[in-house]
Amino acid sequence: MAILKVAQLGHPILRKVARDLTPDEIRSTEVRQLVQDMLETMTEYGGVGLAAPQVHHSVRIALVEIESDNPRYQIGEDDAVPVTVLFNARVTVLDDAPFGFWEGCLSVHGLRGYVERPSKVRVDYLDHDAKPQVIEAEGFPAVVLQHELDHLDGVLYVDKLVDSKQFAFVDEFARYHAE
Ligand code: ZN
Repeated sequence: MAILKVAQLGHPILRKVARDLTPDEIRSTEVRQLVQDMLETMTEYGGVGLAAPQVHHSVRIALVEIESDNPRYQIGEDDAVPVTVLFNARVTVLDDAPFGFWEGCLSVHGLRGYVERPSKVRVDYLDHDAKPQVIEAEGFPAVVLQHELDHLDGVLYVDKLVDSKQFAFVDEFARYHAE
């Protein structure tokens, strides 16, 4: 187990399109170890998600874990999602009505910005046994999934800011923008 270094905005790996893993790779000891380290890293920094490019691996692995007592975000109990590890995930929009949220990112340290995304999505992915799985999500969990899966395509939330005036350091966000 290890806490991994998180790549910060400006590091080229965050802008690369990550590659799919083969089923054999997904089941390999190396990938299982990477996933364990990613989980430990996400927990250490209080993230609700983490994608492999953020820890310098350009492969399509993303984690999501939304706990209702997360220190970084105000989260309702209905929005809790248990630890989910997604390999080779693809998003399909089910409802493109915009849902807005002040997003943060462990790779854009200390900042929050207002982004709107489709409110409901389906995600097709492989689990740790390389078996196909599907999840549907709405509202905040849909934000988190789309944010993490964007990382696999080299996209960051700062690319999707609705208005650059709704972009702030965490302290100023809490003081002037939080509801
Ligand atoms: Zn992020």
